[in-house]
Amino acid sequence: MKRESIWTIGVKDEYLPSLQEDISCDILIIGGGMAGLSLAYELKDEDKKIVLIEKSSCGSGATSHNTGKLTFMQDLIYNKIASNYNEETSKLYYDSQIKAIGEVLKIIKDNKISCHLNKTKSYVFSTKDEDKDFNKEIEFYKKNNINYRVVSDLPNNYPSKYALETDFSYAFNPYEYLVGIKNIIKDKINIYEKTRCVSVSKKDNFYEVKLSNGRKITSKAVAITSHYPMFIIPFLTPFKTKVEKFFIGAGLVDKSIDIQMISHDEPSISMRYYNKDKDNYLIYGRRSHSVSKKLDVREDFKELEDEYKKYFGKKIDYFYHTHDIMTYDSLPFIGKIKDNLYIATGFNKWGNTNGALSGMIISDLIMERDNKYRELFDPKRSISFDKIKNLPLYNIETGSSYVINKLNPNKNYYEDDVKVKLINGKRCGIYIDKDKNEHIVSNICPHMKCNLIFNYVDKTWDCPCHGSRFDIDGNIIYGPSVYNIKIKDDK
Ligand SMILES: Cc1cc2nc3c(=O)[nH]c(=O)nc-3n(C[C@H](O)[C@H](O)[C@H](O)COP(=O)(O)OP(=O)(O)OC[C@H]3O[C@@H](n4cnc5c(N)ncnc54)[C@H](O)[C@@H]3O)c2cc1C
Repeated sequence: MKRESIWTIGVKDEYLPSLQEDISCDILIIGGGMAGLSLAYELKDEDKKIVLIEKSSCGSGATSHNTGKLTFMQDLIYNKIASNYNEETSKLYYDSQIKAIGEVLKIIKDNKISCHLNKTKSYVFSTKDEDKDFNKEIEFYKKNNINYRVVSDLPNNYPSKYALETDFSYAFNPYEYLVGIKNIIKDKINIYEKTRCVSVSKKDNFYEVKLSNGRKITSKAVAITSHYPMFIIPFLTPFKTKVEKFFIGAGLVDKSIDIQMISHDEPSISMRYYNKDKDNYLIYGRRSHSVSKKLDVREDFKELEDEYKKYFGKKIDYFYHTHDIMTYDSLPFIGKIKDNLYIATGFNKWGNTNGALSGMIISDLIMERDNKYRELFDPKRSISFDKIKNLPLYNIETGSSYVINKLNPNKNYYEDDVKVKLINGKRCGIYIDKDKNEHIVSNICPHMKCNLIFNYVDKTWDCPCHGSRFDIDGNIIYGPSVYNIKIKDDK
């Protein structure tokens, strides 16, 4: 079994050079995932000097580890948003998702991007007899003339008792899509890969962005599209967000069906098919929980493997996991947070649409054009008491994980080949490989000083507070940390 995402297999891409000098520009985009590349695409024809920096390679982040669905049918989202706000807000969110799907389809068509796009039926299903939560969603569909059908069985015979079925959804290979965009825009926008930002600070009327290699970029406007913003934004991140992880397996099956499904149950199940070079894969995602809960990922992996075998009689060929940023009110944060400083985050596991939307909204804001979704996603939107009921829970989960790991560092997820101990007064994590070499790193996440947990499946050090991940030699894989955890060289 391969421990990698199915989307990158066989896709050709070459690194663009990293930035090795100080430069200045009009607009700097930090992060080349769905949000950053969508923004770069929307701005590519503007008369501005635009730079995009990416710490690894474009598309290598969360986007290349998702399930590649492009849909407005996002569990029972409209009911959820209506209960946090009102039906009008739900309707505006629905419009925004349809608009985003339309934009992605247009980009694919206009530029002939080959990314295994196909139209699918979409399902939200439940294994319960009749799930009352569905009724309000159905009301929303009815009021807004969304064609739907109520069915009991799913086309792939996965156990279900109640399901909503709709037509207008798509599935694609998100990595191929992003590599396609990168190739379209790279002659118009300066893209630097293997270029990691470590800080953003305001100087007079421009921003100074420092890089891990000591270089700096000065820019009039900066858009942070790094998935999780790399700095703390008071009363926004981490306060109004939490990080949830999800596990995905993909295996060869006999046939591919043009469907995508998500369950409304606990644990949540997400499925779709992918047809590549005559091979048919079923992509099966399972369980979603906060990074602060269930710290030993081996259990999640085992459950996923067992279920795949039980329901489909097959083995998993590719296994990967990733996380996404969840907001307390189910709406993303896309927009301006300060003069000429923009963020796009909190996509609640629907970043293929919301990332595309980030490109449209932020480009309009930067170019001082109107955008009808500006207020809906405004990161500084006001909150009232009934909308903040999730907040204590979000912060208690993360806070308790922080404290428990500080108090009890040697819980049973550590085994003989992994140790945590004080070396010269510094708390270190040690992984001993099969040749008995010791890989010693700092055990403290540079982001907010949480103690790191060893992940036996991927052999990485993971942060149980906000999801930063590091390899056994201390190199940063995922943020929000911008720093490595190497003992000798902290950059
Ligand atoms: C299991 C799972 C399945 C999902 N499936 C779907 C789906 O089917 N459909 C859907 O719509 N959404 C889905 N999502 C959600 C979606 O994957 C994310 O919301 C989306 O990919 C986020 O895009 P992004 O551009 O914000 O982040 P990313 O794709 O992670 O891009 C951010 C980029 O910024 C770079 N970066 C980070 N820090 C720095 C730095 N300091 N300097 C420079 N660069 C930096 C990273 O390397 C990365 O390439 C899923 C999420 C999960 C967890």
